[in-house]
Amino acid sequence: MIPDRIRKLKPYKTETSRARVRLSSNELPYEIPRWLRERIKEEIARTPFERYPDPTAGELKKALADFFGVGEENLVLGNGSDEIIYYLSIVAGEGGVYIPVPTFPMYEISAEVLGRPKVTVMVDRNFDIDLQETLRRIEEIPCSLAYFSYPNNPTGNLFSRDKIASIRERGLFTVVDEAYYHYSGETFLGDALSRDDTVVLRTLSKIGMAGLRVGVLIAREDVAREIDKVRLPFNVTYPSQVIAKVMVTEGREFIEESVRKVVAERERVFHEMRNLEGVEVFPSAANFILFRTPYPADLVHSKILEKGVLIRDMSYLPGLDRCLRVSVGKPEENDAFLEALYRSIRDLG
Ligand SMILES: *Cc1c(COP(=O)(O)O)cnc(C)c1O
Repeated sequence: MIPDRIRKLKPYKTETSRARVRLSSNELPYEIPRWLRERIKEEIARTPFERYPDPTAGELKKALADFFGVGEENLVLGNGSDEIIYYLSIVAGEGGVYIPVPTFPMYEISAEVLGRPKVTVMVDRNFDIDLQETLRRIEEIPCSLAYFSYPNNPTGNLFSRDKIASIRERGLFTVVDEAYYHYSGETFLGDALSRDDTVVLRTLSKIGMAGLRVGVLIAREDVAREIDKVRLPFNVTYPSQVIAKVMVTEGREFIEESVRKVVAERERVFHEMRNLEGVEVFPSAANFILFRTPYPADLVHSKILEKGVLIRDMSYLPGLDRCLRVSVGKPEENDAFLEALYRSIRDLG
């Protein structure tokens, strides 16, 4: 009864090990300030959650439109952008799905679940799109949908805009997943607002609200309207609507200040890692850093965990053997990581 393509799926894995310092999921490391928590408490206390929430999440949408500098009519909200990725895989075309890999696994999982052919193409040595191979492969298996993580998780780089545009030119509906937009400052927003073949994904998860599960699709009004038709009516819960609204309005300065600190720390950690012998570290436009050591990644991972720091083993993804990813944390957390990495490499060497 259950089709083979579902039976063959592996459950999505995330890091659940306990650790003093958690740098495995690219969350914002800073705690929400007390005054802001108090404001959230007040708003939650007056939420009539015995009722269904506003199915259009109107108030939150208004706040998000202002936060992202677009119109409310350009937005579709999801229970995290993960949910929107499912919606896009349902709505956008019927042919194959093109995905440059290694990347965020949800694109492949949603294509797999919906039984759409997948065309995965390895990136080149600089982690950029291999355009020649891509054009050859999407000719072989006609594709109507393309996913680009921009910057790419877990490699951290931004793909060439020209290459994305060349692939789009072949008639692929283009999803630019800007989950790390706040850390990169680079966007396809202009295209998403003016074209009917490009949408942008944003999320609140990487800027302090991972637990709320609020993802945002930005598109031209006519495109947004079609995608919104497949959305489950109450997909963003009442508490999430209320808390997210307070955060992106009254908490905006806290978010922006935290992002600035993380970006500064990213540069510091990158340079410190570059000076570690035996560590190959890749530049990042996001809030995490990918690196490679001479040793098996699972060994390095457990050595670092023994020292109280949890990071992510990325060696299961194609082309990333001996690679691990560390999220940028608070300065003292990053120092704990650097120390743990240094000692682990020394132990193994
Ligand atoms: C973290 C991440 C997401 C997940 O976003 P949610 O809104 O938490 O579902 C989406 N895309 C990429 C590339 C990510 O790294």
